[in-house]
Amino acid sequence: MTAYDNNNIFAKILRGELPCHKVYEDEHVLAFLDIMPRAPGHTLVIPKAAARNILDIKIEDYLHVARATHRIAAVVKKAFEADGVTVQQFNETAGGQVVFHLHVHVMPRHDGVALLPPASRKEDVKVLESNATKLAAVLKDASR
Ligand code: AMP
Repeated sequence: MTAYDNNNIFAKILRGELPCHKVYEDEHVLAFLDIMPRAPGHTLVIPKAAARNILDIKIEDYLHVARATHRIAAVVKKAFEADGVTVQQFNETAGGQVVFHLHVHVMPRHDGVALLPPASRKEDVKVLESNATKLAAVLKDASR
């Protein structure tokens, strides 16, 4: 398997070298908005550990991602008054992966509304800012 590349986009976000619209962070994971959302509120959950995908991540690190994904799924559903949530995770090029640091897509869904195709449209920064603030507020409320 190809080695983990320290210069992938999400590694740069984790090191603070590139910005992100943060939704949640703890010592093990970071959740932030996808800049080309397939639905409003499309959030990515990533481990802080260096892992290319599900094929090389340590189980302990994956469990932290799973726990955070479980939490973020409930938060996106509430914040966007969604009818459902789609959770997706791609592995290697053949599996649909484009960025090679493990990430889980969490997308709020509404009845009868299709997802946009992947990477079809870059969202306005103001919209991302507002959605990140909304999600962080619901998360804070849920943690009380
Ligand atoms: P995939 O590897 O196929 O699961 O897709 C990578 C995802 O990362 C796509 O949904 C992109 O829109 C998203 N993406 C790429 N660059 C950034 C970035 N700088 N910040 C947030 N999301 C990104």
